[in-house]
Amino acid sequence: MIEVRDVVKAFGGFRAVDGASLEIARGSVTGLIGPNGAGKSTLFNVIAGLLPPTSGSVILDGDDITGLPPHQLFHKGLLRTFQIAHEFSSMTVRENLMMVPGGQSGETLWNAWFHRGRIAQEERALAQKADEVLDFLTIDHLADEKAGNLSGGQKKLLELGRTMMVDARIVFLDEVGAGVNRTLLNTIGDAILRLNAERGYTFVVIEHDMDFIGRLCDPVICMAEGKVLAEGTLDEIKANEQVIEAYLGT
Ligand code: ADP
Ligand code: MG
Repeated sequence: MIEVRDVVKAFGGFRAVDGASLEIARGSVTGLIGPNGAGKSTLFNVIAGLLPPTSGSVILDGDDITGLPPHQLFHKGLLRTFQIAHEFSSMTVRENLMMVPGGQSGETLWNAWFHRGRIAQEERALAQKADEVLDFLTIDHLADEKAGNLSGGQKKLLELGRTMMVDARIVFLDEVGAGVNRTLLNTIGDAILRLNAERGYTFVVIEHDMDFIGRLCDPVICMAEGKVLAEGTLDEIKANEQVIEAYLGT
């Protein structure tokens, strides 16, 4: 589904990503691991259109998407989750989901004036969809809670929920488990596996928690110093000499 070809991303003279090549298979939950500073987040940002690569290319379903801005990738179903922005923290969880752009006609004044009835109808449909998403993620009890009051793990679920509002095809999750308690991490893992199995989502997951990676991800790709070191099952990766060395070196 995605092909990353020899991507380099340099900051000044420093190559955060240094000739990384990898493939993401459609329907997979692919894990991306590696020591801190390996270049994982930078590679995500290149794939998701937030950073232009210095060289190399990113191919989505045979189309070159290198350097396309995030909103264009969004329309191709490629999403990277983001922390709930500060401005949205005083809105409710449901409202946060309803804010996800795309397909809303309330965007222009002309529409607002001309299609008032249709907008009200679309708002109801959006609210209904938001409630379905919350139900799927088992956080329907939080619908009217202010997003700013959620725990770290609940916020991660809300971020995942936002991808469901637009029927993403491939979702990139960067350290979804950071600071999240075990129970919620399991809920997030369940949601990922169900989205994968029931809705055909492809996932690429950066995570340090190896239990989480082991439960969810096949294959697992290990990066270090901007390069891809190894790919395989988590057990294969853990037994790989270069991988062991890379982790010991940090
Ligand atoms: P990871 O996510 O694997 O921990 P990152 O992709 O965040 O690694 O960072 C890889 C390297 O690139 C790190 O050494 C980091 O300090 C550096 N880096 C990341 N972003 C920038 C930036 N905007 N400017 C300069 N250096 C950066
Ligand atoms: Mg990172």
